Amino acid sequence: MKIGVVKERAPNERRVALVPDALKPLLGAGAEVLVERGAGDGAALPDSLYEATGARIVDHATLYREADVIARVQKPDADDAKALRQGQAVVGLLQPLLDPGLMKTLADAGVTAISLDAIPRTLSRAQSMDVLSSQANVGGYRAVLIAAEAYGRYFPLLTTAAGTARPANVLILGVGVAGLQAIATARRLGAIVKAYDVRSETKEQAESLGAQFIVLKSVADATGAGGYARELTAEERTAQQQELNGHIGGMDVIITTAQVPGRRPPLLVTADAVKAMKPGSVIVDMAASALGGNVELSRPDEKVVTDNGVTILAPTNLPATMPAGASQFYARNLAAFLLHLMKDGKVNIDLSDEISAATVITHDGAVVQEATKKLVEGAQ
Ligand code: NAD
Repeated sequence: MKIGVVKERAPNERRVALVPDALKPLLGAGAEVLVERGAGDGAALPDSLYEATGARIVDHATLYREADVIARVQKPDADDAKALRQGQAVVGLLQPLLDPGLMKTLADAGVTAISLDAIPRTLSRAQSMDVLSSQANVGGYRAVLIAAEAYGRYFPLLTTAAGTARPANVLILGVGVAGLQAIATARRLGAIVKAYDVRSETKEQAESLGAQFIVLKSVADATGAGGYARELTAEERTAQQQELNGHIGGMDVIITTAQVPGRRPPLLVTADAVKAMKPGSVIVDMAASALGGNVELSRPDEKVVTDNGVTILAPTNLPATMPAGASQFYARNLAAFLLHLMKDGKVNIDLSDEISAATVITHDGAVVQEATKKLVEGAQ
C-alpha cells in the first residue's frame, strides 16, 4: 500500500495529515509513504525529517499518480478532487454532510472517499482514531490562550509590591471535549472558572477539573442520542438564555463550545447579555461558522468589539493555529485508522466492519454511506 501525504492548500491550514513519528508503524506494517514536497512546512516538519524516517519526497503529480491512499486533513479543493483517480482512496476530514456534491463527484470518478469525522467515537476500538476529540482538545486549549492574550489583565490572583491583581472570572458554556480542555487550561492559568452544559452528567466532569458548575432551574437535562445534547425546544431556549444572562454579566472571559449534531449551534449569549459585560471582557465563540454560533454578535474569523468594549472572537479553525501539536495528534489517529484499513499490505474496504461502514462515504462508483446518500439523492 502506498500512502501519499499531501500539502494542504486550504487558507490558513497549517496542519499535515501524517507526521514523521506516525509513519513508523505504517512503514513497519509494509506500507510505502510518499510525501508531497513541503507538506510539513506549516507544522515545522521539514522534508528531511520525513526522508530520515523512510518516506520518499515527491511532487504533486507523482503523489497523485502513485499513491493508493491520499492522506489529508481537509477535504480536497476542486483541483485536487480532479487529480484523484479511479480506485484511489482519499482519507481526511471530508465533511460529507456539508458538501454532498463533492462526494457525488468522487463517487462518479470511482474514488473511495473516507471521512474521519464520521468515526464511531463511542466504539472503544475506534477511540485511538477519534480525530474529532483530538482536534477539539487542541481547540479548547487554544481558545483559552487567545482569550488570555486578548484580555488586558491577569488570569491568576497576583499579589505584588505594585498591588494585587484579582483573578479572572471565566465561564465555559458547553462541557464536551473542547469545554473540558478549556476548563483545565483556564484553571492552570489561575482563573476562577464556572461551567454550564445541558447534559447533567457534565457537572461531575467539570467539577473534577476545578470548575464551579452552574445548574439552571429553567432547563431540565437535555441529553440526546449517543451522549450528545438534544436540541432544546423554543421555550427551553428562551428560558435558558434568560437565566444565563444573569451569570454572563459578571464574567471577564466567556468561551462557548456548544454544538448539537446536525443542527445549528444553540444561541447562548445574546446581544443583550453582552451589554451587561464590563469593558475589556472577552468572548471566544468556538461554535461560530456560516451557520451561526453560540454568540449572537460573533462573526466567523472576525474580531468584533462592541460599543461597550467587549471583544468577541470567533476563530473557525483553532487546531490549525497550533499546527505541530494538532498534527501530531491527528497523525496518531490517522495512522491507527490506516493500520486498521490495511490487510496483507493492501487497502481493504470491508463494509461489514463497523468502523469502515461509518467512515467510507463513496466506494465502487457509488455513495454508500446512508446519511450522505440521502442528501445526494435529495439534491437530484
Ligand atoms: P459537541 O461538540 O457535540 O458539543 C459540545 C457540548 O455542547 C456538549 O457537551 C453538549 O452537551 C453541549 N451543548 C449542546 N447544546 C447546548 C446548550 N443548549 N446549552 C449548553 N450546552 C450545550 O460535543 P463533543 O465534545 O463532541 O462531545 C459530546 C459527547 O460525546 C460527550 O458526551 C463526550 O463525552 C462524548 N464522547 C465520547 C467519546 C467516547 O466514548 N470515546 C469520545 C468523544 C466524545
